[in-house]
Amino acid sequence: MGDEMANLSGDNSKILLDESEMPTQWYNIIPDLPEPPPPPLHPGTHEPIGPDDLAPLFPMGLIMQEVSTDSYIDIPGEVLDIYRLWRPSPLIRARRLEKALDTPAHIYLKYEGVSPAGSHKPNTSVPQAYYNQVEGVKKLTTETGAGQWGSALAFACAQFDMECEVWQVAASFEQKPYRKAMMEVWGATVHPSPSDLTEAGRAILAQDPNSPGSLGIAISEAVEMALQADTTRYALGSVLNHVLLHQTIIGEEALLQFAKVDEMPDVLVGCTGGGSNFGGLSFPFLREKLAGNIDPTIRCVEPAACPSLTQGEYRYDFGDTAGMTPLMKMHTLGHSFIPDPIHAGGLRYHGMSPLVSHIYELGLVEAEAIGQTECFASGLQFARTEGIVPAPEPTHAIAAAIREANAAKEAGEERVILTALCGHGHLDLKAYEGYIAGQISDYDHPADKIAAAMESVPVL
Ligand SMILES: *Cc1c(COP(=O)(O)O)cnc(C)c1O
Repeated sequence: MGDEMANLSGDNSKILLDESEMPTQWYNIIPDLPEPPPPPLHPGTHEPIGPDDLAPLFPMGLIMQEVSTDSYIDIPGEVLDIYRLWRPSPLIRARRLEKALDTPAHIYLKYEGVSPAGSHKPNTSVPQAYYNQVEGVKKLTTETGAGQWGSALAFACAQFDMECEVWQVAASFEQKPYRKAMMEVWGATVHPSPSDLTEAGRAILAQDPNSPGSLGIAISEAVEMALQADTTRYALGSVLNHVLLHQTIIGEEALLQFAKVDEMPDVLVGCTGGGSNFGGLSFPFLREKLAGNIDPTIRCVEPAACPSLTQGEYRYDFGDTAGMTPLMKMHTLGHSFIPDPIHAGGLRYHGMSPLVSHIYELGLVEAEAIGQTECFASGLQFARTEGIVPAPEPTHAIAAAIREANAAKEAGEERVILTALCGHGHLDLKAYEGYIAGQISDYDHPADKIAAAMESVPVL
């Protein structure tokens, strides 16, 4: 045992950057793609929308980023100052997991759970609050599932002295009471969704007074409220181009960290709900791949209960359930799809980011779907070797990394695997408790439910 421990401690387990090495620009992948993604369409006219159409919802600073064709965008100093509360985030070499798997693979995780809210979400909530505040916005509304995004936005609004009102999917509101407390600590107001505060919520409650809610419904409620007041805007935690742009600081840091250990990933896997932590980690590596400098395999990992890339269709669909958002071309399960209540609340979204969908269509990334029991088993193995309890969402990425590490062992190859550990699971312990008690199962194949929900997708 003594000798083994000496071997384990022979090299670094964390690859760190100094604060002075933190990247000062976000990376926009769109100009580097062989063709640009299809534009969003107006829900009424079906014509491409312009920046002005989005102005009731978002500040112009963010809209210009949404449509930007610049490759790099400077991160404002005010945002960098707040990023420094937790960034640069560590790149972890999972040596104890490698040893438990007896694999020649090198497993690296970019750990975003070190942020105040415990996930990668503050990388975008902070700039979103900033650009709203400089344009005089006083209040932001939003939706949240498991509560990661709601808490990240509550934290950011507290930094900029703004109000924050959150609609949390009812099922999660009941399951995870401490997320609500966390949002309230940072000064936000939280409602379960569907609520009787909005037309969209009342319509759902009239059909089903016990509706468990969905992200699509909660988005409808938050959008409806934002449209009613002049100094209120809406903020979205994933899916949109500007959100993925802000998250690229993850991949830019990881590139610098890999340079320090003189390695490069052969395989990059990431969990995808709306695609933001995956895009944030992978786009800087995809830039290097498109430039011919490296050639990693890049793969999205989604839950089997909500398989938008592997089983959805690439169509124009609404981002919300009530059909109030612009139509976006994306892999969708149908905007009326309500996924089974898996514990990875952040992955229960009917669509996929238009940018990730487009890149998938171009054949630049792959996708696979994994059921939640394999994910929890992998999460537990990770916690028992590496110590960190992962959120249910990144257990999908860890399960995929473990599959890759086992494949490397079979092939006898020293492959380098990278993924994002995009959040810790300290407020998801109820899910682990259920798994340990043997109460968590996989859901049946959702094909029939998908077919029914696809009927809701508009035919253009
Ligand atoms: C929100 C969230 C996700 C899903 O969103 P993406 O945009 O796909 O990253 C995944 N993991 C965690 C920890 C989250 O908070």
